[in-house]
Amino acid sequence: MGKAELLKEVEEKTRNAELPLKKGAINLVFGKGSPEARILFVGEAAGRNEDEQGLPFVGAAGKNLDKLLASVGLSLNDVYVANILKYRPPENRDPLPEEIKAHTPYLIKQIKVLCPRVICSLGNYATKFFLANGEVDKMDEQPGITSVHGKVRIIEFEGLKIKLIPLFHPAAIIYNQKLKVEWEKDMEIVKKEIAQKELF
Ligand code: URA
Repeated sequence: MGKAELLKEVEEKTRNAELPLKKGAINLVFGKGSPEARILFVGEAAGRNEDEQGLPFVGAAGKNLDKLLASVGLSLNDVYVANILKYRPPENRDPLPEEIKAHTPYLIKQIKVLCPRVICSLGNYATKFFLANGEVDKMDEQPGITSVHGKVRIIEFEGLKIKLIPLFHPAAIIYNQKLKVEWEKDMEIVKKEIAQKELF
């Protein structure tokens, strides 16, 4: 079975799972992009637009993510995009530890199919999840995005060797000019890292 079909299977499993937040949501927000991608972007959770369309990063934050991809010469054909949570939290509130614990096994299944070489974690929740090696109870002990953004590290995650590039969340830079400057510097790092031949 190819990766596209395997991802479809994981999507169906996720859809059928009794996950917290499912009841209040309109759609499952599973992922988008290329199943063959070597680069995975992981955000936090769907907002209203994402919930309505059943796709991650289609609202205002998504526009920034599109710009980011374009600025480093990538498109949705080159990457895959997913979230820590698979359903929208009410009023876009922060994810709760129990929700992260219940939802991330499905993110892990996605990662095991994709086998990405690079993960760009967007914002605090995704970054702390990977820095804690998927141990949700250890997320609080991890450094925040402000101190680790743009710092590339190699992690071993579920038996995969992955280059982790923490980035500010694209929603965080919408109204913050100072962060936008940092974000643009981080894009140069992303560009350099993905240009390395051994990735492909
Ligand atoms: N913010 C996220 O973290 N994910 C989305 O899909 C949209 C906004």
